[in-house]
Amino acid sequence: MLLGMLGLGIVWLVGLPFGLAALWWSRRYGQTELGYLDWLLEDWVILGAAFFWISFALLVVMGLARRLGEWWWLPGAAVFVAIAGLFTFTAPYLDFTTDPLEDEALLAATREYERELGIPKVPIRVEEVSESSQQANAYAYGLGPSRRVVLWDTILMPPFETGEQKVVLAHELAHHSQRHLPEGLAWFAIFAVPGAWLLMRATRSRGGMGAPEAVPVALIVVAVYTLVTAPLSNHLSRRMEAEADWKALQVTEDPASLEGIMVGFAETSLGDPDPPAWTQLVLGTHPTLADRVAMARAWRERSAPR
Ligand SMILES: [Zn+2]
Repeated sequence: MLLGMLGLGIVWLVGLPFGLAALWWSRRYGQTELGYLDWLLEDWVILGAAFFWISFALLVVMGLARRLGEWWWLPGAAVFVAIAGLFTFTAPYLDFTTDPLEDEALLAATREYERELGIPKVPIRVEEVSESSQQANAYAYGLGPSRRVVLWDTILMPPFETGEQKVVLAHELAHHSQRHLPEGLAWFAIFAVPGAWLLMRATRSRGGMGAPEAVPVALIVVAVYTLVTAPLSNHLSRRMEAEADWKALQVTEDPASLEGIMVGFAETSLGDPDPPAWTQLVLGTHPTLADRVAMARAWRERSAPR
């Protein structure tokens, strides 16, 4: 565990100047008003959580490796999938920072979309971020009875209009109706099994995962594996996002508002509408703003009366 923490500590130190530069850049373009000291404190909390997780993961893997020898990777992968599932399920219950949505018109629209999408009532919560940022966002999370949608309060403010807010709601509800979170967990399992096997093979010459000498190698293997599989997992994420956009168009029948949101994102979050292909490949979890506008227009074309 000490070796794991040391590894993470070194990575944190290396990343510090880049994080500072990114904060300076965001502040310069009015994307955040977060102070340097607040940023550092927030970063410490995230670092603490990462320390905890690395220690816990090492405890599980090394414990299994010492009992089962080289076969630890199969139950090991299962344990991590189970943890991911438990975390996805419980995360909404650990949220104490949001309030219920109170806008009557948006709530009425929510109930209508839930009926059309064939899902039970999903609580809609609002997270206050406007104090420190004008960036706009929303997300769907939870599993089964813990399913929720969270809107940042910035999306309830100008330049976003009611029609656009409704499309955002429909998009997030579609993530639930299309079961994107359980699907994401299934994909995680598909990546975790060969990942655990690779970890077993790579640490064999260091005495296997039961030996402390294997920890630094294991950390590198996990980091490289995550990096190499990122284009594939981003591709999967973009497919789900495109499906949620399409469903939102079907239930709202409002392509102009979907287009309006994308323009709003470019204005408030300074998103590049048409970024270089390689950044999209490495970092793009959503289709580009230009592609999403193109989909709204394609939907309009298709549903126009002939
Ligand atoms: Zn989405």
